[in-house]
Amino acid sequence: MAAIDGLPPLREVIAAHGLAAKKSLGQNFLLDLNLTAKIARLAGDLAGADVLEVGPGPGGLTRGLLAEGARHVLAVEKDARCLPALAEIAAAHPGRLEVIEGDALAVDVLSHLTPPIKVVANLPYNVGTELLIRWMTPKDWPPFWQSLTLMFQKEVAERIVAKPGSKAYGRLALMVQWRAEARIALTLPPEAFTPPPKISSAVVQITALPAPRFPADAVTLERVVAAGFNQRRKMLRASLKGLAPDIEDRLRAAGIAPTARAEEIPLEGFCALARALRA
Ligand code: SAM
Repeated sequence: MAAIDGLPPLREVIAAHGLAAKKSLGQNFLLDLNLTAKIARLAGDLAGADVLEVGPGPGGLTRGLLAEGARHVLAVEKDARCLPALAEIAAAHPGRLEVIEGDALAVDVLSHLTPPIKVVANLPYNVGTELLIRWMTPKDWPPFWQSLTLMFQKEVAERIVAKPGSKAYGRLALMVQWRAEARIALTLPPEAFTPPPKISSAVVQITALPAPRFPADAVTLERVVAAGFNQRRKMLRASLKGLAPDIEDRLRAAGIAPTARAEEIPLEGFCALARALRA
């Protein structure tokens, strides 16, 4: 049976174009168009927005984004085998889908997009965290994107939304939560994908804040957080001693006990310490 957009079901598309999944490209496809439409809806109203999609593959999520009314979708795909299938989707939605063949880590996407811009992607696991870090650490804030709706391994998603005192709390949580709102919007079992990966996945919804929650210099904050969590079992006076000779005084100035450990310190404390180190 044809899907709502008049295009063939994804299993047929995969068979017709010989898109056997390649592990090296992190290919675990979503073939249920109800599910891909649901993921697209998590990104909010798409009608007035451009959407950047990384790794469209055979186009299940792309079709969801278009069906949900995205103004313009820019899809960046590394696997040339997927291009004919994506061209069929573009033909069914004249002027709304642009496909770039290339590595999302190397392509300059900004010249192809008009604000407001949302990023929605079922990311290849091997590049997902690297892309997230790039999107979270632009030179200027607010960033080019309004929101990120991203599929990750569940364990990575839990690290993004983690709170102080938990094992998952660390650099990723602090980097994201300093300047954005982040929540797990959907969890998916391995069977939702073809082929199924070994572990569960989760969609994280990240919305950019207009400004950081607490003032701090981005580079100093990153340095403090990296040093603190590099040896997360150690007391901060030991793990941070390379940052300043008088680190105990700086910790106290930030209202942090020198004997505390990184995993106990909330975002506000790290920002205060970054300011104390710059003072
Ligand atoms: N979006 C599709 C879906 O939901 O079914 C495919 C998701 S699959 C997990 C990841 C996709 O990213 C694959 O199509 C893969 O070829 C593509 N990919 C892998 N590395 C990439 C890169 N560096 N740049 C762009 N696309 C990449």
